[in-house]
Amino acid sequence: MHLLFVNPPSPRNRSIIRLIDCSHEAKADYLWQPSDFMLISALLGPDDGASLIDGTADRLGEADFFRLVAGSNPDLIVFALSGVCWESDYRYFRKTRDRFRDKPFYVIGDIFQEEAYLSRIVQECDGVIVNPFHLDLEGMMGRSGKGLPGVRSAAEAAPAPLLREGEAPGGIPRHGLFLKKGYVFPLARRARFATVTTVWGCPFACSYCPDSNFQPAVRPWQTVVRELEHLETLGVKELFFGDKAFGYPRENVAPLLDEMAGRFNFSWSCYFHPQMYTAELLELMKAAGCHTLIVGIESANTDGLKRYGRHVDKGRIVELVTHADRLGMSVCGDFILGLEHESEAEMLATTRFARELPLDFASFNIAAPLPGSAFRQKAVAAGRMVFGAEGYDTLSHRGELGISAVGYERLRALRNRAVRQFYLRPSYLLRRLRKTASIEHFVLQVSQMAGMARKSLMSAQSRPPPLTGGG
Ligand code: SF4
Repeated sequence: MHLLFVNPPSPRNRSIIRLIDCSHEAKADYLWQPSDFMLISALLGPDDGASLIDGTADRLGEADFFRLVAGSNPDLIVFALSGVCWESDYRYFRKTRDRFRDKPFYVIGDIFQEEAYLSRIVQECDGVIVNPFHLDLEGMMGRSGKGLPGVRSAAEAAPAPLLREGEAPGGIPRHGLFLKKGYVFPLARRARFATVTTVWGCPFACSYCPDSNFQPAVRPWQTVVRELEHLETLGVKELFFGDKAFGYPRENVAPLLDEMAGRFNFSWSCYFHPQMYTAELLELMKAAGCHTLIVGIESANTDGLKRYGRHVDKGRIVELVTHADRLGMSVCGDFILGLEHESEAEMLATTRFARELPLDFASFNIAAPLPGSAFRQKAVAAGRMVFGAEGYDTLSHRGELGISAVGYERLRALRNRAVRQFYLRPSYLLRRLRKTASIEHFVLQVSQMAGMARKSLMSAQSRPPPLTGGG
């Protein structure tokens, strides 16, 4: 079997990251590796072949992209689409599908958490992959995803949970396929990096987040250790753990960290939920090579987050960030502006909180009706969303559809001011210089800061496109 993974080109070379659970546009000049493709590649047998056409990572024009498509001869195709640039992705999907009309053809994409989009796409392909672990690749070659595990091939009146909690089967991704120069991780210390996942899905359930729909599937730590051994043979030294909340479950992560501290020499970063924090775990992570944490802080008013099912203790956030700082680790705080209960004064308190904490980076997002989220359900129920009119993301390329009482233009201005106030502080720049590990690290950081400034400026200048359907 030869499996072809396809990511289409993105409009205006935007850095769109397309995943099963959540897609987004990078807020600086980075592009994650396609981690779902990577996990699916772990299911291939030793005699199977695989290739990747990534029009986004390789910044391909339409003609070059279709030249590569025409030159390939796969037995099975997996194509990624995103709600962030639905109209463009759907157009590429249809043309690629036409090229492989006689081949089994499956898709992935966050947008298919929405039944209207799932119903449309399953009429034009063999199924939507909703779980990258439990696929029957041989069965998928049979030209119909009907009844196959991990695939939805028909809209259902009451869809079952997308994935039940459990243990993922062991297998090692074909990392060699994904070591492209076009993939850049913004917090890495080295340009060449690999994404490793210990848990797919999320053990938490924040209603504004699409990941709340995906129960966690855990890869046994012994499998991850084998993967690290493989990465060593490829000369990879930098990792990004793609887990949504690294550290879960503790009994799987503790032995992994012990092995990493004792046998390996990777430097790495990960997402870390404040409720996972204990001093012991953080110190174990540091010993295992972790240099940067991305922490969802969201708001200065953590009590206000309870209504979205997010339970975080503010004291714990402060404790985690200051402990990480003491250990010499860097922390990127993730914040959301424009949640439906928030006043402008509360948003300003959040941006102040970001500057008061000893943070090394801050990412300010705007609440958006992401596929599968409660905000989206409300917008659909209120008739504020039209099929095909996508493009809502946390960079606010399109209006925020009335989630916040504060107007759309004002929200964007608040976000851009938050970025400027955070990054353009002399004390901040000195702090970054102090924590820069090497010239390669310095160059990576300067390029990401320039990219963030450019995107922030573009976001301030662009006007929302008209709300029309298409595709
Ligand atoms: S913890 Fe993070 S990834 Fe998980 S549901 Fe909440 S916001 Fe989403």
